[in-house]
Amino acid sequence: MSKPCVLTCTKRPDRAHQERLMAFLRRRYGGLAPELEIRLDPELLGGFTLTVDGYTYDCSVRGRMRQMGDALRSGEVPPDNPEELVENLRREIGDFQPKVEAMELGTVLEIGDGIVTADGLDRAAYGELVRFENGAEGMVMDLRKDQVGIILLGSEEGLGEGSQVRRTGRTVEVPVGEALLGRVVNALGEPIDDRGPIQAADCYPVEREAGGVITREPVTVPLQTGILAIDAMVPIGRGQRELIVGDRQTGKTAIAVDTMLNQKDTGVLCIYVAIGQKASSVARVQQTLKQHGAMDHCIIVSACAGESHSLQYIAPYAATAMGEYFMERGKDVLIVYDDLSKHAVAYRTLSLLLKRSPGREAYPGDVFYLHSRLLERACRVTKEYGGGSITALPIIETQAGDVSAYIPTNVISITDGQIYLETNLFFSGQRPAINVGLSVSRVGGAAQTKAIKKTAGTLRIDLARFRELEVFTQFSSDLDKATQQTLDHGGRLLELLKQPLYHPLPVSRQAVLLYIATQGLLDDVPVEQIRPFAEGFLEKLAADHAGVLDGIQETGALSGVAAEAIREALAEYKGSALQA
Ligand code: ATP
Ligand code: MG
Repeated sequence: MSKPCVLTCTKRPDRAHQERLMAFLRRRYGGLAPELEIRLDPELLGGFTLTVDGYTYDCSVRGRMRQMGDALRSGEVPPDNPEELVENLRREIGDFQPKVEAMELGTVLEIGDGIVTADGLDRAAYGELVRFENGAEGMVMDLRKDQVGIILLGSEEGLGEGSQVRRTGRTVEVPVGEALLGRVVNALGEPIDDRGPIQAADCYPVEREAGGVITREPVTVPLQTGILAIDAMVPIGRGQRELIVGDRQTGKTAIAVDTMLNQKDTGVLCIYVAIGQKASSVARVQQTLKQHGAMDHCIIVSACAGESHSLQYIAPYAATAMGEYFMERGKDVLIVYDDLSKHAVAYRTLSLLLKRSPGREAYPGDVFYLHSRLLERACRVTKEYGGGSITALPIIETQAGDVSAYIPTNVISITDGQIYLETNLFFSGQRPAINVGLSVSRVGGAAQTKAIKKTAGTLRIDLARFRELEVFTQFSSDLDKATQQTLDHGGRLLELLKQPLYHPLPVSRQAVLLYIATQGLLDDVPVEQIRPFAEGFLEKLAADHAGVLDGIQETGALSGVAAEAIREALAEYKGSALQA
C-alpha cells in the first residue's frame, strides 16, 4: 500500500493508543500494513478520524454533528406550530444514533465560480453526486490524477479550502411523477412556485442512456401544433425532434408555447425547460399557460440566466428524466428546450473553468455529444417499454440568420428537421415568420393527418413558385395572365398562413382552410380581406354545417361529400360576405 494511513485527532494520542491502532492495522492488512501518520486538527472538536486506503472512518464530534444535521435536514416537512417543531426536534435528537461508517472523504483544494477542485476522492465516478459539509451537493465532472473537478449544484456559503466533501455512490437524481404537473421547479426538481413541497412518485437519474433501437417504434401519430403553416408543411409526429431556429425575437418561444396550448385535452403532457432565459420571460410563459387553462398538463423547469451554470447545464437532462417517467407509463410528452444555444454556452463556461481545452469557438470537443445524448432520449417506445413518447422541440438562437454556425449546424444534424424563422418575414408582418423553403420535417410526413396531407399537397410547391416569380417580377409592370394568377394565388396562401398568437386551429378547421385555399377558391377574395373572410367562413360553417367539421375531426379525413358541402357553403358565403 503506497499511501500512509492518516489518523487525525485534536490532541496527540498516547503510546498505548498508537500501539493498539498499529496492531489493528497489522491484523487487517498483514505484511502490507501502512505507515501511520498523525495529524492534529482542532476543528474536529473531539474524537478522531482514520483514513485508510481512501476510506475515512469518522469518529469525531464534528462528524457526528454533521450526521445529525443531515438527519434533521432530510426529515419531514417542518410543522408551522413552534411547539410541535421543538417537540419533533427533541425527539429526533434524542433518538439520534451516530454511526461509524466507512466514508470516502475528500478535501476541497480550490473553490470559485461554481467549480470545486478536491482531492482524496480516489474512487469517485464521473457524474457522481457528492455532498459538501454545508449540505450543498455537487456533481463530479472531471477525473484527474489525484484530483476531481466538481460542479457545485448548491450554495458556496460556508465552503472554503479544506472543507470536506463526501462521496455518495449515487448519481444526480430528480423527483419525477404526476405531482410535478402544474408546477414550476428548478433544475433539481425543487419547487420554486409558492405551492408547497412536491410528493414525488420516484427519483430518476438525470443522465440516462437513450433507449436502443429495439425499444423504439416509428413515428406515426401526429402532434398537432395548431399552427397552420407547421401542421401543413412541416408536420411533427409524436417522438420526433424538431428544431426551432431563428434570430432573437422572431417568435421562437411563441411557437413552442402555442404548441403547448394546443395539447390541452389531447393527453399530451408538456415540459417547458427555460435555460438561461430572463426570469420575466419564464413568468410570462407561465402566465400564458395559466390564462389558457393549460398549466395543469405542464411542468416548467426553470434555470434562468441568474442561476449557476451548473444548474443551467443539467436542466434539460433533468426535464427529460421527468418526461421519461411518463413515457414509460404510456403517456405522450412534449418537451421544449428553450434554448440550447444558451445551454451550450453554460457548458462552455463550465468546461473552461474546469480547464478543459477549448476547441472551435472555444466550445469543448464534446459539445456535439452534449446535445446528441440529450435529444436521442426523445423517441417513441414500443408497448413492451411503455408505449409512450417524448417529442422534443429544441430551440436555437442564431446570430444574424447564420444557420451555418457551429451550434446550429450541430443541432440541425441531430434533429429530424427544423422550423426556420426569419427576421425579415417577422417584420414584414408574416407571423409566424416561417421560411417555408428552409423548413423541413424528415419524419413527420408519415404521421400527418390524412385530411391535411391531402389538402396541403400543393401548398409547398405553390409557395415556392410564388417566391421565385415574386423576385422575378418585382420591377415589371405588365405580366401575362398565368404569371399574375400564380402571384395572386401565392399571395393569398401566404396571407392565410398568418396566424395570431394563442389561436391554435384544430385539424378540421385547418383542413377546410387548406382545401379552399389550395383549390384556388379564395383567389377572387381581395388579399387584405383573406383573414377576416376565412375566419367568418369557418364560423359560418361551424354554425350551419357543424357535421362537416365534426366529421373531419373524428375521422381525420376529408371525404368527397364533405368537400362538396364545403364548396357549396363557400359559394353561398361569398355571395353574402363579399357584397357586404
Ligand atoms: P427571444 O430571442 O427573446 O427568446 P423569441 O424568438 O423567443 O425571442 P418570442 O418571445 O416568442 O420570440 O416573440 C417575440 C415577440 O413577437 C413577442 O412579443 C410576441 O408577442 C411576438 N409574436 C411572436 N409570434 C407572433 C405571432 N404569430 N403574431 C403576433 N405576434 C407574435
Ligand atoms: Mg424566446
